[in-house]
Amino acid sequence: MSDTYDLVVIGSGPGGYVCAIKAAQLGLKVACVEKRKTYGGTCLNVGCIPSKALLHASERFHEAGHQLADLGIKVSPELDLPTMMGHKDKTVKSNVDGIAYLFKKNKVTGVVGTGKITGKGTVEVTKDDGSTETLETKNIVIATGSEVAGIPGVEVQFDADTIVSSDEAIALSQVPGEMVIVGGGVIGLELGSVWSRLGAKVTVVEYLDKVLGPMDAEVSTAFQKLLVKQGFTFKLGAKVTAVSKDGDKGSVTFEPAKGGEAETLSADVVLVATGRKPYTAGLGLESAGVELDDRGRVHIDEHFRTNVGGIYAIGDVVRGAMLAHKAEDEGVALAEILAGQSGHVNYDAIPSVVYTAPEVASVGKTEEELKKAGIDYKVGKFPFMANGRARAMLATDGFVKMLTDAKTDKLLGCHILGAGAGDLIVEAALVMEFGGSAEDVALTSHAHPSLSEAMREAAMAAAYGKPIHI
Ligand code: FAD
Repeated sequence: MSDTYDLVVIGSGPGGYVCAIKAAQLGLKVACVEKRKTYGGTCLNVGCIPSKALLHASERFHEAGHQLADLGIKVSPELDLPTMMGHKDKTVKSNVDGIAYLFKKNKVTGVVGTGKITGKGTVEVTKDDGSTETLETKNIVIATGSEVAGIPGVEVQFDADTIVSSDEAIALSQVPGEMVIVGGGVIGLELGSVWSRLGAKVTVVEYLDKVLGPMDAEVSTAFQKLLVKQGFTFKLGAKVTAVSKDGDKGSVTFEPAKGGEAETLSADVVLVATGRKPYTAGLGLESAGVELDDRGRVHIDEHFRTNVGGIYAIGDVVRGAMLAHKAEDEGVALAEILAGQSGHVNYDAIPSVVYTAPEVASVGKTEEELKKAGIDYKVGKFPFMANGRARAMLATDGFVKMLTDAKTDKLLGCHILGAGAGDLIVEAALVMEFGGSAEDVALTSHAHPSLSEAMREAAMAAAYGKPIHI
């Protein structure tokens, strides 16, 4: 039995570790329990960070072989996959070690083991060697994240190298000749980009008629066309009915979602990237009386409270976008609430980014959502083709699209396809956070020459009907 904590957080992903550190900074006595050997959750170990390390490295490889010659640089790149994977592993290690350091610095007690809620204010931790430790606490935060979801109605036998999830697709030991990806969402298209750039022939099988699900349709259509130019093949509106392994090949059978003849594709690697589901196994939620919603997520109110006093939940395990920064925002807000302050998350201004080349980024409402809600809106668009910096960088694909309230000019949404979109989107998120207008962006000085000038020009298009440079 240990001392009583103010807070025990179960799970050390971006939701859990950020909540633990922020609560400790606000003066609470905090422990964070993690069943992996390293802190950082899905994001740092097998998600955001390793995938971005591989996206960065594979983009440089592709650039060296395809674009540098146009800039007067002649090279003949040769792939050294073990070194590329080594770069990814080192990046992960420095990030997860960083969390252990931050726990120490902020006096958060890190406990490695599997946490289970065993009663009011008690968390039992089972260590690797089978021993247990009981933590007494005033409050418990469930931040246990998510796990790979399968394909509804289809049995999938994952293995290490042929039928894989994202966990294995970031660690393949050789470049597959052919790769079939089930699911045209963010994870599928990011990891598909990695392997396509390294030489794989990638086919994406997607149930919907468009890629990137809820993304603004104009952006997702333009993005898909660019991926086709990069060598991707798409089978849209396709319902997968079987995924199987035959010798050392995988195969995917699908039929038109609206009905029709089935087709089977065979590949060296099949990546199932159909999304993630909340992870609550072994947490003792049933005996603790914590309610789940109809999609298996821990049910919470607007202050992250479950139906049981003293138990809260944040991140992928609750409703909302499965994004690391959404989990972090909730972690900070909840820590503030537990410290007696008034934490809050503005769910209308959370950006989402696809780290492909070019990048895709979005915040706020899409055009389809505004139409559906019957909101009178204006569209301001500006192509990177007309941006001087983009031309200098040979990065002219894509555009910025701003959506504003037709009467008030308030920024309601921003969608970007283009180089640096993931960084540019923050400007729109900030303007939305302050309730600002397109004219606010148009009147703000933007450095020249920069990609950010496309943001200003799109804002001019929305506010005045006319940008300067087209
Ligand atoms: P997690 O990060 O899943 O952490 C939960 C932790 O809880 C895990 O470490 C788990 O081991 C631990 N745990 C579970 N049960 C117990 C228990 N009983 N006891 C102790 N510990 C337990 N998001 C982005 O915003 N940007 C990206 O670029 C991005 N890229 C991604 C790429 C991939 C390939 C994947 C798979 C995901 C990506 N995501 C990205 C999503 C992001 O990883 C998640 O949204 C984020 O990790 C959720 O954080 P979390 O704290 O809720 O949970």
